[in-house]
Amino acid sequence: MIDNFAKQLPRRRSVPVKVGNVTVGGDAPIVVQSMTNTDTADADATVAQVAALARAGSEIVRITVDRPEAAAQVARIKDRLDRIGIDVPLVGDFHYIGHKLLTDYPDCAAALDKYRINPGNVGFKAKRDTQFSQIIDIAQKYDKAVRIGVNWGSLDQELLTRLMDENSTSDKPVSAAAVMREAIIQSGLLSGERAEALGMARDKIILSAKVSQVQDLIAVYADLAQRCDYALHLGLTEAGMGTKGIVSSAASMGILLQQGIGDTIRVSLTPEPGGDRTREVQVAQELLQVMGFRAFVPVVAACPGCGRTTSTVFQELASDIQDHIRVSMPAWREQYPGVENLNVAVMGCIVNGPGESKHADIGISLPGTGETPSAPVFVDGEKVTTLRGDDIADDFKKMVLDYIENRYGK
Ligand code: SF4
Repeated sequence: MIDNFAKQLPRRRSVPVKVGNVTVGGDAPIVVQSMTNTDTADADATVAQVAALARAGSEIVRITVDRPEAAAQVARIKDRLDRIGIDVPLVGDFHYIGHKLLTDYPDCAAALDKYRINPGNVGFKAKRDTQFSQIIDIAQKYDKAVRIGVNWGSLDQELLTRLMDENSTSDKPVSAAAVMREAIIQSGLLSGERAEALGMARDKIILSAKVSQVQDLIAVYADLAQRCDYALHLGLTEAGMGTKGIVSSAASMGILLQQGIGDTIRVSLTPEPGGDRTREVQVAQELLQVMGFRAFVPVVAACPGCGRTTSTVFQELASDIQDHIRVSMPAWREQYPGVENLNVAVMGCIVNGPGESKHADIGISLPGTGETPSAPVFVDGEKVTTLRGDDIADDFKKMVLDYIENRYGK
């Protein structure tokens, strides 16, 4: 019997890259990362959002560095984060004038842990190679990693045009979509080779090749993964809002991760106005956890409910416990090492309740329609008690907390 199927899956071999104190690639766990949407020139807002993302579990955070006012704040932001105990690697997202900002603001270049370079817009055509070299030289000077991040929304048009022309005169022309995918892959690979030719070590280079369609993303990364051993950053760009963004990201990245492809992931969700930016971190963690690659927070399994449930007690209890866990996790990581592996089951009736609860570390089967108002509780597969009365939910919550204390308390 396989204990953890995900851990048996072969992982693509990649060269590990250190980004600050976090390793991406090689045998390191798949890293969760995210990006702020604050104006980096607003140091207060950026410090607050980086801190929130890091506390939610983002292991690397990227910030936009788009103009001098933003570059001027980066070292200050890093320093303030250090002072409040947030030790998360910071990545600078550069487009068009990254070479200039990194040159003009050496404290920004030194404070960042990685530079994101978009080979499609690292500079204007005639100067592109020089400006790319400049960023690579600065990264080497400060011993920083880079991510060569291709995005099909800003693809190198010169390369695309050349491949389109070659395709049009080929004996075996392929579709325009296939040429586009090839251009995305080549843009990443050629830039990686160029960085190496400039002296950058392979263990400083991460690649990404983001597109916005699920099948294209799978095809691009499956091909890219075979053609290099650079560490890969996975992400579906412009994934969209709400459930569409979540489903698209989970479907595309889930398939790639299952094939052993991907060393770090970002779930790019379009936030609702005023929405919580940390949602993308939660989704990324849940994706890795439900697939069995990593554990971040205890899992609460709950049945969907049906006509056998006449009250909402079990949904409320499941949601209550889940909320309590999320709020408590920052403290619990210290207090209860290993608690992230806990499984709790909250079930609506006896049909699947006892069975599911036995598989959990601790589970309860609440009474459904017509059942006697009693709720058996199972701990480590054994029935330990039956809760009755009006306080079933509170009693069970207390049992969960006692279980955590007994099993994971130092
Ligand atoms: Fe319905 Fe019971 Fe199954 Fe829950 S466990 S979905 S309440 S039959």
